[in-house]
Amino acid sequence: MSDFVFPVPATPAVAVEGGGRFPVHRIYCVGLNYADHIREFGRDPQRSPLVFFMKPADAVVANGASIPYPPRTGNFHYEIELVVAIGRAGREIAPAQALEHVFGYAAGNDLTRRDLQRAAKDRGEPWDVAKGFDHSAPVAAIRAAARGHLSRGRIWLSVNGETRQDSDLGQMLNDVPHLIAELSTLYTLEPGDLIFTGTPSGVGPLKAGDRLEGGIEGLEVLRNTIAAA
Ligand code: MN
Repeated sequence: MSDFVFPVPATPAVAVEGGGRFPVHRIYCVGLNYADHIREFGRDPQRSPLVFFMKPADAVVANGASIPYPPRTGNFHYEIELVVAIGRAGREIAPAQALEHVFGYAAGNDLTRRDLQRAAKDRGEPWDVAKGFDHSAPVAAIRAAARGHLSRGRIWLSVNGETRQDSDLGQMLNDVPHLIAELSTLYTLEPGDLIFTGTPSGVGPLKAGDRLEGGIEGLEVLRNTIAAA
């Protein structure tokens, strides 16, 4: 008999191409990792240090699911991102060894309450309420790294069939090995960790009824709709 005082919640998980589910341990995110996106916020890419933040593991949303418009925002944004799935533990990982820790890759959306993020930035407060809310991390199926690592390729997002973001993974300021290396100096990475690697320019608002499609060359396309609150 378990001595837990109520039933243990189900482990959040992401589908794996070809079968199986990837159990999610933590969700790390990187801010400001594409020069064009930094410029659209009126900042200088040369002077922007890496920003890390987190979402709760149970914020993951399955591909195809409907996402309720979140509370306490009037400026709910999409951000298409390459998601790196970690399959092997490590800390202070050297960039040259970093890819050995990758289980696979997926397309994800770093959903954001932009108005709350702006207010937090203005007041020097943390981003948690802007980034780490319920249903804020849709992720498509993970493709195993055994089928190849990703450093280039188109990354795009459309809303109701209209392209809003269109860039290339090669435009990242910090590539996947360097992100893993830097993050692993701050935290011990564990199997089950997901890393959202930042979004290119073109972010914008969503409303109830919107149909989102986002993709990365070679990976499953992520499709979600926005439902009323
Ligand atoms: Mn982001």
